[in-house]
Amino acid sequence: MYNTLQNMESINNTTTKLKNENYSSSKATEFKTIGTKVKNIDIPILNQRLKIYGYQTIGELIHDFVKSKFPPVYDDEELKSMKANLQQNGQWTSLSGSYPTFLNNIDYDDMLKFYVNNLRLHNKSARDLVSYFRRYYDIFFGNHPDEILKYAPHKRSWILQSIKKFASYYKYKTGNPDCEDVVKRMIERYNLNVSLDMKRAIYVVDDQYVVRKIDKLMTIQGDIGFIVKVGLFSGLREEEIIYSHSKEICPDNAGHKCDRLHVINKPNGMSIVTLNWFRGNKQCYFFIMPSNIWKQFRNLPRFTRKEEINSAHNIVKREVEIKFMDLRKLHYNVVRNTMDPNEADILAGRAKTVSAQHYALYQLDKMAESYKQAWEKFGITFS
Ligand SMILES: [Zn+2]
Repeated sequence: MYNTLQNMESINNTTTKLKNENYSSSKATEFKTIGTKVKNIDIPILNQRLKIYGYQTIGELIHDFVKSKFPPVYDDEELKSMKANLQQNGQWTSLSGSYPTFLNNIDYDDMLKFYVNNLRLHNKSARDLVSYFRRYYDIFFGNHPDEILKYAPHKRSWILQSIKKFASYYKYKTGNPDCEDVVKRMIERYNLNVSLDMKRAIYVVDDQYVVRKIDKLMTIQGDIGFIVKVGLFSGLREEEIIYSHSKEICPDNAGHKCDRLHVINKPNGMSIVTLNWFRGNKQCYFFIMPSNIWKQFRNLPRFTRKEEINSAHNIVKREVEIKFMDLRKLHYNVVRNTMDPNEADILAGRAKTVSAQHYALYQLDKMAESYKQAWEKFGITFS
């Protein structure tokens, strides 16, 4: 409390000083250092938050803030009326023949930065998504969005994905979910997802799709049903599931450094298992699983690709029309509902080490709770 007050005071002093000075024209362009106090314990959090918003240093943030680049303000009125139109008529009504103005002032460099830094997309994919968006948004938001259906599935999935990613960028910049909503409704309304294969469909997935697949997966009974749950709830790659089944568990707590597994059982019924297994760009720091499923999994006499995973794969393919591998993607889509992209990527083993370490230290309780809530949103409660 004391520190906060002191911070406010020092900022106020600075502003007062800045206000009171009479600048001569030469003085106005001189630089001035302004400072504030932050608790030591908050420094990793500050760095993490800077990263989340795509900044390396506090200076960059301040500069964008001064230039009104951050946080940006958009006019949302058009989106509201689009949304209303879609809701009332199920119809896309273009606004007097011109494209909505929120598409006029997009900072594509900033958009790219968001894809790379926040969504953690690879540079190449991020650039492709931006250029697909630039090329095709006029069709999607124009008078005949169904023209998108003329493109081959591969291309169409890229176009749709680029529009969806734009919508999350828009939400991130404005805090307004309407664009995501409009995009989702339009894809449904014009059936733009039609005949995209499984791999691509899940890439441009909507929650209804995830719900349908998960409902079906949950009807699978017995041993196979259990193996499916292990894959789905852990979100692990196949080889990571096998590894985590056989690897010895360290009796020490998670702070201990050794190559065995470390398990933390959270009071909310979730277990966090640190795997710390890295192979090239495939990483797994830790995963979360309901404690009872984790225990039951460890008690299985064996878990191999040849037997357990293959049989589960065949059943899942026949009954749910997905691959065992796709369970991981479904998992990602579920946890994204309550976790920010950063957190979800840590779970998916795609994040940079520094973020994972940060979360390992500060955010495990929050993540375990987000995890539980995400599955509840999809109708799955763990007892
Ligand atoms: Zn240990």
